[in-house]
Amino acid sequence: MKQKIQSVKGMNDLLPDQTSAWHYVENAMRNVAWSYGYQEIRTPMLERTALFQQSIGDQTDIVEKEMYTFVDSGEEMLSLRPEATASTVRACNQHGLLHNTHQRLWYMGPMFRRERPQRGRYRQFHQFGIEAFGWLGPDIDAEVIRIGARIWKEMNIEGMTLLVNTLGNQSSRDAYRNALHQYLDHYRGDLDDDSLRRLDKNPLRILDSKVESTQLLLKEAPSLHDHLDADAKAHFERLCSLLDDAGITPVISQKLVRGLDYYTSTVFEWVTDQLGSQSAVCAGGRYDGLVELRGGKPTPAIGFALGMERMVELIAMQNEHTPKNEIDVYVIQLSDAAISEATRLSEKLRDSGLRVVSHCGGGKMKNQMKKADQSGARIAAIFGDDEQVRGVAQIKLLRDSGIQREVPLNTLVDWCKDYLG
Ligand code: ATP
Ligand code: MG
Repeated sequence: MKQKIQSVKGMNDLLPDQTSAWHYVENAMRNVAWSYGYQEIRTPMLERTALFQQSIGDQTDIVEKEMYTFVDSGEEMLSLRPEATASTVRACNQHGLLHNTHQRLWYMGPMFRRERPQRGRYRQFHQFGIEAFGWLGPDIDAEVIRIGARIWKEMNIEGMTLLVNTLGNQSSRDAYRNALHQYLDHYRGDLDDDSLRRLDKNPLRILDSKVESTQLLLKEAPSLHDHLDADAKAHFERLCSLLDDAGITPVISQKLVRGLDYYTSTVFEWVTDQLGSQSAVCAGGRYDGLVELRGGKPTPAIGFALGMERMVELIAMQNEHTPKNEIDVYVIQLSDAAISEATRLSEKLRDSGLRVVSHCGGGKMKNQMKKADQSGARIAAIFGDDEQVRGVAQIKLLRDSGIQREVPLNTLVDWCKDYLG
């Protein structure tokens, strides 16, 4: 027997009984982005490796060890995108989208990171993201955060907590970096390997460490907020008051620094306690320096990325009405001669917006009825030689104790629509 080839570890098929939940989540996100006036951008899944090295940062987990990278025909290093902010910035610069104008953008699609697969963590996963370019003030920060809040509302997701922090401007961040370095330098021997490697290059990233002993050391570390400049403080206070206006109560978390190098000023994360250890559903922040760093004009920016697998899991846990893959009408044809009329009938039902499956492959009435039942359809429309002659169809209500009745063809569409509501 030939061996069946299986999918690659951490890369999942989404099967037919899962995709309707995905459509539901995708539609909700599209609708919310649309309602805030954001426009979609689609960038390629493959980019030059240098783009991610220079945007996300050499010392980050993503670039150090998680990217799928290969040499293309012996010449160029390419990587599957691990996230889409770097690509969005590249596309904006490449096509002049930021020349004297602002942009409100969103994206959705697969991302690739070679990390250890576990619940809520895969090697191909999907993100929905928002990126707003050109605004400096806290009003856009609050808007971007409100978009997240509206997505939870749209999908009836409860129990989301917003964590926020500010990293300050470049100079206050540098001052803090020095203070933190000085403090942690005394504890070199106690740091985990990753943190030790980061100590000299980017000690801020150590705050993000998931190693418990390192987190203990950090308890007494100097505080980021003691080093903030006045502008950063004012921006952050205004953001908190705008969130308060919107009925959002954030938890201020000084340990929140985010794993990517490009963040400045506001950073935030939406977390839940319902997904086990993968608690972050949505994460983002300002990246005011990135557009310029990548060759564009200085342009402030803020965005977030939302993990869609985690969202789908939350929906499955919380929503009583998980969307189903329902068929409205299943059309049964009992003779070869009836096929033409039955097909016309099916198309007419579809013209009126209904979801209709026409039976294919012939077979006995009993067999076709069984298929109708399995399809989940609410109505079976039965059509044979006798019905054709008399201009009627037999209607069977499959979820209504199997009630059966005869309906004239010229009123069939209205009849079905009325019944289905
Ligand atoms: P984590 O600390 O969980 O690794 P991260 O800082 O790497 O998160 P981001 O790069 O900010 O995450 O991505 C934003 C969101 O995308 C995360 O909050 C999460 O919901 C989702 N996400 C990130 N990596 C994965 C993955 N490997 N599988 C599924 N979802 C993911
Ligand atoms: Mg990660």
